[in-house]
Amino acid sequence: MQTTPVIQQYLNIKASHQDSLLFFRMGDFYELFFSDAEIASDALNIILTKRGQHKGKDIPMCGVPFHSAEGYIKTLLDQNIKVAICEQLETPKEAKKRGYKEIVKRDVVRIITPGTKLEESFLVQKENNILMALFFFDNVWTSCWIDISTGLFKSAITDEQGLLSLIDQISPNETISYKNKKELSILRSNSLLEITWLESKKSFSRNISIDYLSSFFDPDRLQKLNTSLLGSISLIVEYLQKNKNLFLEHYDIPEQVELSNIMTIDPSTRKNLEINTSLDGEKNLSLLGVVDKTCTLLGSRLLKRRLNGPSTKQDQILKWQSKTAEFYDNHQVTEGVRDLLNKFPDTERSLSRLIRLGPNPRDLLSLKTGMRLFFMLKEKITLFEHNSIGLGKLLEDNLKNMLKELNLALEEEPPLTMKEGGFIKQNFSDELHKMKLIERKANSDLLELQTKYSKKTGIKSLKLKYNNVLGYFFETPISYKNKLLEYNEFFHRQTTANTIRIKSVALDHIEKSALCARNSALELEKKILGELHQKVLEISKDIISLSRKIASLDVCSTLGYIAKINNWCCPLVDNSKDFIVKGGRHSVVEKTLFKKSLNAFVPNDCSLSANEHLWLITGPNMAGKSTFLRQNAHIIILAQIGSYVPANEAKIGIANKLFSRIGASDNISKGQSTFMVEMLETSNIIKNADERSFIILDEIGRGTSTFDGLAIAWAIIERVLRNNKSRTLFATHYHELTEIEKNNSKVKNVSCEIKEWNDEIIYSYKVIKGKSKGSLGIKVAELAGFPNDVIVEANALLGKLQNKGANQNNAVLKKEDFQMERLFRVKDEIDNIDLDNITPLEALNILHRLKSYN
Ligand code: ADP
Repeated sequence: MQTTPVIQQYLNIKASHQDSLLFFRMGDFYELFFSDAEIASDALNIILTKRGQHKGKDIPMCGVPFHSAEGYIKTLLDQNIKVAICEQLETPKEAKKRGYKEIVKRDVVRIITPGTKLEESFLVQKENNILMALFFFDNVWTSCWIDISTGLFKSAITDEQGLLSLIDQISPNETISYKNKKELSILRSNSLLEITWLESKKSFSRNISIDYLSSFFDPDRLQKLNTSLLGSISLIVEYLQKNKNLFLEHYDIPEQVELSNIMTIDPSTRKNLEINTSLDGEKNLSLLGVVDKTCTLLGSRLLKRRLNGPSTKQDQILKWQSKTAEFYDNHQVTEGVRDLLNKFPDTERSLSRLIRLGPNPRDLLSLKTGMRLFFMLKEKITLFEHNSIGLGKLLEDNLKNMLKELNLALEEEPPLTMKEGGFIKQNFSDELHKMKLIERKANSDLLELQTKYSKKTGIKSLKLKYNNVLGYFFETPISYKNKLLEYNEFFHRQTTANTIRIKSVALDHIEKSALCARNSALELEKKILGELHQKVLEISKDIISLSRKIASLDVCSTLGYIAKINNWCCPLVDNSKDFIVKGGRHSVVEKTLFKKSLNAFVPNDCSLSANEHLWLITGPNMAGKSTFLRQNAHIIILAQIGSYVPANEAKIGIANKLFSRIGASDNISKGQSTFMVEMLETSNIIKNADERSFIILDEIGRGTSTFDGLAIAWAIIERVLRNNKSRTLFATHYHELTEIEKNNSKVKNVSCEIKEWNDEIIYSYKVIKGKSKGSLGIKVAELAGFPNDVIVEANALLGKLQNKGANQNNAVLKKEDFQMERLFRVKDEIDNIDLDNITPLEALNILHRLKSYN
């Protein structure tokens, strides 16, 4: 059997879109064929059918309705599957005009990938959606990342070490790279990264890149960029072009980020510190969850970016801080600003949709609201010294003119779709006004005609109706059929099961003028909308600037607001190596305790400096060690994004890198044991931390035998003291380590205080000077409901261990110790028997118990 023309057309288009599922438009459906159909049917859980044959075999097929395709595409994107949208480029009528056997022209109009999503339903509102390009040239890595849904476009140059931490910081939705040897070897080893590989370039040179990029960006500015940067911009532009995203002329060349100006937070630290989500994946219980009280989606996205890349530059931090302070000091203005910001739409994403997907009234309306609120907000903070959002006269005049025009033209509440018109105010154009009058007149004529016919025939139930096939018609119950057809002026159009449908010459006449006026009005409305759209695109860069100002205003006012309501203090931030916090709190734990109406959070001090830069924290489980470690790391991060901090007083010497090793987390998917992960992370810390860094280490060495662990922990401390010299908080169970303080003045022993009362432990959560009394692990086990005999045995063994440790400097228990221990317990039990008073049954029970001591 021969391949049909449509399937041949499909195969031709599919040949150049191998890595995407081809959504092939056929009437009201997107159809998928061959292996695409099999993949889609599986991924979308839809029925697989077949359509004809190809090379003697059935062609698998499945399809999704055009009007509900968005949901299906989203499901595919979430599974990292790309979708190529192939549309009909003409109507079947137009195709027939070209020739009787011609089929409609079709082609791919857009490829949607996880990094190039635009539709509202595909995107996470409060997060950027990033496409990131990684390019290796001249021994450096250059990365360029873009969020086409907001206009964010940035780049950075880094070494191999910084690359992974940059990727983690940016957290791209899609990553692309050329299939070169170096790229393959480095990027493939990171199993968490899904890379789209592009064929490597045969000839890459500075001039070729500049030539290529000049059609999108200002050539003079391109000339100033270094070659590797040009390479990574070319990579991203090439990919966007391939995916038919041709809109880059609305953006400037990417802003270059100097990575040394940003605090390095390595991937495990970001996770351990629960910056974006808690270890259980909860957003609310993370640092971001506490601070993100922003009012706009623009602000929310900016805050997340800032929290993930705090600054290391004092002037930048102080600038942010002075903005926060202004809002902190003027709470009433802050509340007024937040009221306005709460109504501020997502202008970034509206603009991107208008640029990429064409005119639509809702997004234009959103920009209009944005512009109006922008000027109101500017007015509201006019007396503020540090927070001005002014854009300069020229830009603001552009925006004001646009706002005026949108105000005059756009209906305040346009219909959901553009099909029926009604989105342009009719007074905006005389012509439109006239057409609307004709349309209105025709509509009232239609109603009049209905009344006339109803009277004339005496049929009260005669109704005027409309559908796409018949246009306007009158409908009555079928029982009136004969009566109606007695009138010559009516002609029969359709009989259904219960009704009869008729038309008349008069109806045809009015219908024509009504439809004609409606269509012309709709065309005119679309034309006006198109012109407004064009004008908006001409000032797209001004709108991007406006959105950025609002995002920043939202972040600064939010930081001022949360500082006020949570009673945070303004830290003194400088370039010293001090970290002095009085009354510090862990904002998330504090919030949780408050919500559960538990005891209030107990604030703690911390004081590190070049002279005393390592605190060794001992204390039993559950005494608050990890909380203390994390809260101080959070305080550093907050201070360096220009926020106030949860403390009574704070002096923070800027940290360039933040490291942590907390708790145990297996990486089974990578085939690494807990201990291996622990050692890899710690090795990374001791190799990279320097005297400007801040380290928190929690129970290093726990994953191996006691002596190994102790030795490793000890060696790490010595190394940090000798080489890294970083400010370090080190929580440990190894009491032996507290000895280090005696010989090194840079170390200080502190502990989480506990009190024992009536054989119970009471946690005070106070961090106090000196080492803790003991680990009290057995007490904690008892609290956790361990069976009594296990507790008794553990206590006895502990006593033995402690004696051995003290007497022989050797704390290892031998097998005989366990046997002796059992014998002692048997003896104790026998000694306690009161032979004069024991019943045979009790004796049997004792015998039974003794046998169980094996
Ligand atoms: P550790 O690391 O010593 O085992 P954690 O830091 O995990 O202990 O703290 C255990 C629990 O104690 C926390 O989940 C929290 O509920 C409570 N806690 C810790 N620190 C404080 C504090 N400063 N004030 C009040 N409660 C605290």
